[in-house]
Amino acid sequence: MKIWILSLLAVAFAKHEHYAGWRSYFVAPTSAEQLAVLGSLEMSLEVDFFMRPRLDREGVVLVKPDFQEEFVQVLAREGISHKIHAEDVKAQLDIDDEIIEARHAEFRSRSEPEKPYDNYVRLNVIYNYMDSIAAKYPNIVKMVTPGNSFEGRPIKYLKISSSNFEDRSKSLIFIEATIHAREWITPPVATYAIHKLVEDLTDRELLDKFDWIILPVSNPDGYEFSHTNQRFWRKTRSIDQSQSSRLCPGVDGNRNYDFHWRTVGTSNNPCTDNYGGSRPFSEVETRIVRDIIHEYLDRMTLFITLHSFGSMILYPWGHDGSLSQNALGLHTVGITMAEAIYEKKLPHFPRYAVGNSRLVIGYGASGAAEDYAHSIGVPLAYTYELPGLRQGFNLDPKYARQVSEETWEGIAAGAKKAREIVLTSK
Ligand SMILES: [Zn+2]
Repeated sequence: MKIWILSLLAVAFAKHEHYAGWRSYFVAPTSAEQLAVLGSLEMSLEVDFFMRPRLDREGVVLVKPDFQEEFVQVLAREGISHKIHAEDVKAQLDIDDEIIEARHAEFRSRSEPEKPYDNYVRLNVIYNYMDSIAAKYPNIVKMVTPGNSFEGRPIKYLKISSSNFEDRSKSLIFIEATIHAREWITPPVATYAIHKLVEDLTDRELLDKFDWIILPVSNPDGYEFSHTNQRFWRKTRSIDQSQSSRLCPGVDGNRNYDFHWRTVGTSNNPCTDNYGGSRPFSEVETRIVRDIIHEYLDRMTLFITLHSFGSMILYPWGHDGSLSQNALGLHTVGITMAEAIYEKKLPHFPRYAVGNSRLVIGYGASGAAEDYAHSIGVPLAYTYELPGLRQGFNLDPKYARQVSEETWEGIAAGAKKAREIVLTSK
């Protein structure tokens, strides 16, 4: 018994040990040269950009203990303005855990069931919610488990329809989330969309004219690993990509799609966070999303992949910054979604930026889901970067519900505008 308690305590104290001594910094480059120097540190000092800087927007970067001295020296030498974001990343993560736990406790004390969009929750809570919705509303909800993740966890999505997916005049909307494991605000937004379509439908049109596919966690292995081992884990957890894959598992799922694969904003080194994989669609997690897009391509009007952070709605083409044939439609629907979110957002949340992925983020990236979906014929395809405020991936969970609600307004308005545009262009 004593040993059991001691080992439990050891696990508790070992939490976030991986990040002992790590620091994160705000960086604010003012020239293209400074931007380039910062970019080069990704390889030379193994820094991890939570948010990439642009000339008009500061970035946030995570730096390992061994490289901090050199990092600060390089910034001083190059005259790059910077300040501390988190002095002690491990301590900050311990505090974040307490905030999340206190919120769980608050719901327990009120005997109010906590929903997966009220807080950051583990995979089983999300899956239990989806199971319960499917069981309670069998006439409009179907659970689909198209396969398992690399480590064998089921990947689940819900098909939501008032006509059993048989009315082919309906537009189909596909929402996918959490291919990037550490972006914890994304499953709340996806599960809240389920809630609004099934448990609390306030706008009949959304089921009368639309069918929905919602996949809240496309990378369950990474998501669980970000809870149990490394909070800032981003990739999948595959170990079959190369000789070094066991040492450096995982692939960046949003660089793994077959669209200008591994050409820009990505890496062929398995130990980097934006490793594109050994081949396009090397990951079962991206193949599942691909197969859903192909299966419903004939009437999929809108595809949204949910990410965080930065308050941005991004559209193709992300690899080279050029515009697609449907740029006007993409921009119109993008603006419609951002305006709907704006109406509902909190005053201190930033306004969404809308535009071409490469131009708005400030760097190109190939092999992304949004570009792939658009390249094979989804007329309107977007990456949402949800809000992070200054907390980034650790946005206070008290905002989970708010972000879910405001984003839902954007999705619902986007669905209607997308249908309108696609029908009138036929
Ligand atoms: Zn992401």
